[in-house]
Order: sequence, then C-alpha cells, then structure tokens
Amino acid sequence: MEYPVVDREICGYCGTCVGVCPKDAIDLIDLHLNIDRTKCISCRACVKVCPINALRMADGDNIQAPLKNFRDYDISKCKSLSYDVVVVGAGPGGSMSALASAKQNVSVLVVEKRQEIGSPVRCAEGVSKRPLAELIDIDPKWVCAEIKGGRIFAPNGNFITVDLPSAGLVLERKVFDRDLAMLAAKAGADVWIKSRVIDVIRENGKIAGVVVRRIDGDYAVKAKVVIAADGVESQVGRWAGIKTFSKPEDIDTCAQYLMTGIDVDPNYCDFHIGHQIAPRGYAWVFPKGKNTANVGIGIGGHLDNETAINYLDKFVKDKFGKSGPIVAGIFGSVPTAGTLSEIVLDGLMIVGDAAHQNDPISGGGIINAMIAGNIAGEVAGKAIKSGDTSRSVLMEYEKRWHKRIGRTFRHLKVIRGGVLKLSDKSLNDLADVLANSKKRTMIELFWTALKNEPRLLLELRHLISMGWIQ
Ligand SMILES: Cc1cc2nc3c(=O)[nH]c(=O)nc-3n(C[C@H](O)[C@H](O)[C@H](O)COP(=O)(O)OP(=O)(O)OC[C@H]3O[C@@H](n4cnc5c(N)ncnc54)[C@H](O)[C@@H]3O)c2cc1C
Ligand code: SF4
Ligand code: SF4
Repeated sequence: MEYPVVDREICGYCGTCVGVCPKDAIDLIDLHLNIDRTKCISCRACVKVCPINALRMADGDNIQAPLKNFRDYDISKCKSLSYDVVVVGAGPGGSMSALASAKQNVSVLVVEKRQEIGSPVRCAEGVSKRPLAELIDIDPKWVCAEIKGGRIFAPNGNFITVDLPSAGLVLERKVFDRDLAMLAAKAGADVWIKSRVIDVIRENGKIAGVVVRRIDGDYAVKAKVVIAADGVESQVGRWAGIKTFSKPEDIDTCAQYLMTGIDVDPNYCDFHIGHQIAPRGYAWVFPKGKNTANVGIGIGGHLDNETAINYLDKFVKDKFGKSGPIVAGIFGSVPTAGTLSEIVLDGLMIVGDAAHQNDPISGGGIINAMIAGNIAGEVAGKAIKSGDTSRSVLMEYEKRWHKRIGRTFRHLKVIRGGVLKLSDKSLNDLADVLANSKKRTMIELFWTALKNEPRLLLELRHLISMGWIQ
C-alpha cells in the first residue's frame, strides 16, 4: 500500500492538504506536517492539490513515522479554564469574531497555533475599501497600495480596464492580521499564540469547549460558545461532526511570489485568464507599491499532475521575462464551492475559510471572513447573555450571513462556470470587442460579455435585484 510522504524541504506549510483529506489523517502545526498513515486510505487527494509538489505517494515501508501522541490527550490531566467564548484561529475571521464578542462584555479567548499571528502570509492581500471601512477604521499602516481599478487580460495579452476609483486596497497582512488581534485584545479578549486546538469538548451532546496544547501542557477550556475560524485547514468543525473537508475540484490551489524590481502599474490589480495560463482559475498581479507586486496563480485543485507553482513559473517568465527577484513564496488554496451546508451546531459557529465563505469567482475571503466573524461575535454575545446557546438561537448567525452575502454565491457559481466554459479564442474575441467599447463599469462589461448567454444574464439579474451589483 502506498501512502503520501511529505518532502519537508519543499513543503510551504499552507494547509491545503489538510483541508481535502477525507479521513482527517493530516495535521499542520505551524511549520510541521504530520501524516497519520493508520487513518490514510491512499486516495491521493492531498497529492493532487499540493500547489508546490511537496507530497508524493511512497511505499508504506519507506515512509516517515508520524509523531506519536500527536492528538492524544488525557482530559483528567488537563489544566481547566473557562470562558464565555473561545475563538479558534487569529486570522481576520477569528479576530473579528473576538472583537465583536468582547464588545458584548463577555469573556473571550482567542487560540492561535502559530507563533506569529499573520505569518506566514497566505494571501494576495487585495480587498475592497468600502466594506472594510464599514467594519473597521482603516489604519494607513495596513495599506501598501490604493487601487484605481482592475485590468482583465485575455490569453492574447489584450486587456480591458475597469475603472473603480478608490475601490480597492492591497494590504500588508502581516501587520493587518496582528493589529486586528490587538484590537480584539484591547476590547478585552485574551490571546494565546503557539497554542493548538487538538479537539472539541462535548457535554450532553453540545459543543462545550476545546482542548488546547500549549508549551506547558494541555488545557481543557470550557466555553459557552466555540467559534471555529481555523481557516482552510479547518478541523474543529469536522471534530464537532460537520462534513467540512473539500473535494479537490471544489478548491483552487494557489502559488504566489512577492516580486520586486518588476514593471507594474501601481494603480491597477491585473487578472489574467485563459486555459493555458491558469486552467480553471486565473493569474494575478497585485501591486504593493513601486516595482513590487504579489504575482500569483490559482488552478483547479482536481487537475492531475498539474501544480500551481509550475504554471506560476511559466507565467512569470512570459510576463516579466527572466524571473525578477523573488523575495517571498506563498502557497495555499481557496474553497470555491460556496458556504458549507451546515455552519452552526449547539454551542458552535464556523466562520471564514473554515466555513468556505470565499467568493466563488475570485476566491477572496478576507472581507467575507470579517463580516461573518462580526455577525458570529454579536450573536455569541447575545446568546450568552440570554442564557441559551443552542443551535436554534445561534442560527441567527447563519441566517444573517446568507442574507448579507451567502445567498449570492449560487448565482456567482453559475457565472463562474459559464465564463470557464469559454475557449481561449472566445476570451480573445471578447476582449477585442470590450477593449473597443466605451463601456467601463463592471456591470456594463458583464452585460456586453454575456449577451449571448441568456442563462448567465438571468443570474446577473438576480444579483442586481439583490443590490449586489450596482
Ligand atoms: C494565494 C492566496 C491568495 C489570496 N488572495 C486573497 C485576496 O487577494 N483577497 C482576499 O480577500 N482573499 C484572498 N485569499 C483568501 C484569504 O487569504 C482568506 O480568505 C482569509 O485569510 C480567511 O481568513 P480566516 O480568518 O477565515 O482564515 P485564516 O486567515 O486562514 O486564519 C485561520 C487561522 O487559524 C489558525 N488555526 C488553524 N487551525 C488551528 C488550530 N487547530 N488551533 C489554533 N489555531 C488554528 C491558523 O494558524 C490561522 O492563523 C487568498 C488565499 C490564498 C491562498
Ligand atoms: S488525502 Fe487521502 S492520501 Fe492524503 S492523507 Fe488523506 S486519506 Fe491519505
Ligand atoms: S499542500 Fe501545503 S502543507 Fe500540504 S504538503 Fe503541500 S505545501 Fe505542504
């Protein structure tokens, strides 16, 4: 029998393999990947989705042994603590959940397994400005570039420009994520770093806390509400009994370089589409100031023998000639199939990438995670004060999430599917038509692009009637 084996010198510690393993056989602690072959069924899902080719199947006898007692614990020997709310993960979703809960005057603990919040970055760092400003006062030190619009490149290199003045920002996530956690702490939340949640605690069928492994031992942390904001490698929801893992075809697997000394327009985020450039995905160039940009690519996670990094290297060579100085490599994945069908249980809410709340077209999830976290934190606070943290009360979170954003995903998925069906030739023809048209807003471009696709126009009408596109 063959099992996956990780090349530790190559692994980018992105968690993509954890999120697709149907048997919960993989764990990632900060910079260490553990594969438990007693659980593995040799399905190869993890090998397929690794953006950087760090996994291969190997004969069972040659495999590295998993760490012993990796997730075993003895509850009677755990130190005991209790909080009203425990948030797992200090990404944007977790920190917003903690901030919103703490503002409701309940006790909050954020548990983060990494030793440094926000690092390593797994993101191209682009966000829309208005929804971010609606959530939080934007600190200028979070911002690397103010974006005036987007340019969409067809496979032949022709592009259309969509002007959206003051619409976007490219962030410095290492600073942004850490500051969000500090805001939650200032509002009263306790924050633990280098602390890994290894299980959930159940009482009378309800989620009643988590078990946390820290340097000084294991802790049983009781909580009235657990908010699982543990990102793309999420396991907390799965341990609580929800089917959270993704099929490889339901994610985009991504590789990105932070490049400097390259020719980029600092005002525009560029998107490159085409089946040869990025099968079932797209490539991007997001400026981070003069001559510096996040240059990345996402491809369908199900593509056999294709890795995101190979496509990225080719894209970089074609676009910038000889590869410029690369100062960081970033790997990861984004769920693109829409929100999980279940994100609430008695005592538990799932938020952000862990709940697959990413935009099905772009894969973006920072703002969505923050919006979801904000709602979840408010709902948790209210529920705790009412003395009822059952699923029926916490369902307010799921309902508000779908009303605000989740309900648009169905239409966005159909639009994405329609665009992906276009051949490279059709994309080139479309870019030629649009490049010569006077239309410049997103909606005008969509109308023109999709006028021969009645089904897609219907989806677009739904989104307009919901106020999602103006
Ligand atoms: C290459 C790439 C480019 C992207 N570009 C963009 C973009 O331009 N714009 C955009 O909006 N989105 C982008 N995204 C998506 C974006 O990064 C995520 O949507 C966003 O980070 C989600 O936030 P989150 O809080 O849900 O999860 P995360 O930011 O992933 O945070 C989860 C946290 O939980 C911690 N954690 C996990 N398990 C445990 C555990 N057991 N115990 C304790 N802690 C745990 C993790 O260490 C992590 O810090 C990109 C993603 C990738 C991979
Ligand atoms: S994804 Fe499949 S092959 Fe990989 S560890 Fe899990 S069960 Fe094994
Ligand atoms: S998917 Fe990510 S964490 Fe898993 S082996 Fe590949 S690089 Fe490492």
